[in-house]
Amino acid sequence: MRARIARHPLVSWLVVLTLFTAMGCAAQAPAAKAPATAAAPVAVAPAGPPQHDLLDAVLWMQKSVEYKAATMAAYALATLRLDQALADPNWTALVPKEQSGNYQSLPPAVILDVDETVLDNSGYQAWNAIKDTTFDSKTWTAYVNSETSLPIPGSLEFTRYAASKGVKVFYVSNRTAQEEPATRKNLEKYGYPLDGAIDTVLTSREKPDWTSAKSTRRAYVAKDYRVLLNLGDNFGDFVDEYRGTEAQRLDVLEQHKARWGREWIMLPNPTYGSFESAPYKHDFKLSEADKRKAKRDALQPWPGP
Ligand SMILES: [Mg+2]
Repeated sequence: MRARIARHPLVSWLVVLTLFTAMGCAAQAPAAKAPATAAAPVAVAPAGPPQHDLLDAVLWMQKSVEYKAATMAAYALATLRLDQALADPNWTALVPKEQSGNYQSLPPAVILDVDETVLDNSGYQAWNAIKDTTFDSKTWTAYVNSETSLPIPGSLEFTRYAASKGVKVFYVSNRTAQEEPATRKNLEKYGYPLDGAIDTVLTSREKPDWTSAKSTRRAYVAKDYRVLLNLGDNFGDFVDEYRGTEAQRLDVLEQHKARWGREWIMLPNPTYGSFESAPYKHDFKLSEADKRKAKRDALQPWPGP
């Protein structure tokens, strides 16, 4: 039976056809499997350059007209407030524990933070974004020593205006005492008012009690001057209670509600600051991944469609 079927011409054709089909499948098989084999390692590089959390923030600082307009507006407001403050002898920017007694008769001064208040360090942030790295005190000091920070739009005009009105300009910065000479040179390069007779650049740890919390330095200025305005880009430039939880920070903000835009003027800074560390409780030892997770968890998203 088997032999007879094999000899039938139709069966011969069927055998040939089956063989050809089998050979075709075999020939196609490696090609069909190839994409699956190539995709298997999964380490497929994402299209385009690496992602970095600073990208949009530093792009906004360096390239947007919106950022420049915002800092110019802050300094235009500061100029108006300066004239108001000079005309009102009871005006002081400081809280009673920092400025008290007969301050009305003291000569006037203003206090400004340095980084992202008068000097623009977005070059350092851009370097971090491009090099896919983050803040490090060694690279930061190297940047400071390069003296390449730029003037924040509006800051030069404001500080010069204040000096022209006989107002002493103090810079209260958390740059270190070792970084002060380069900071001074960077400020001098653009013509920021600097006093030759007294130290008006008050850096961190220059005196034992000058910690990163700035109230002791404000009180130091207030011994000899009526402080008209305080300008900064970080909550810590105004209050020492800046490292609390987000709820605590909001509470402190509310306590000083009447001061914002009057004697306290905040500059925008989307690239760093205590706003960024509050979600991870200012624990800078955490990994970048853990920090990012805490920041994502802090967001209040729309539930979605
Ligand atoms: Mg600053």
